[in-house]
Amino acid sequence: MIYYILLSLMFIYLLILIVMIKLGWGKKLKCNNCINCCPNCYPEVKIPLTRINRNKYDKIFNHITLRLFKFKKYECNHCHWQGLRCS
Ligand SMILES: [Zn+2]
Repeated sequence: MIYYILLSLMFIYLLILIVMIKLGWGKKLKCNNCINCCPNCYPEVKIPLTRINRNKYDKIFNHITLRLFKFKKYECNHCHWQGLRCS
């Protein structure tokens, strides 16, 4: 009985992840100037984000999402926003 519950929970989790990929969650913001704009200052300032190293929490988050998103960490040189984006 417990296996059925666990299996259905895993299936629901996988479905949610697939829906999020289809909706484009965490995707890079594209504009005329660059292919990876900062989500914080997008309409006003259009400069590309720079790649930085991921910390251990980002790596754990990557494993929790079953590495389906292929997250990479970026920083904005203008507003110092940091976050994960997937291609
Ligand atoms: Zn910014």
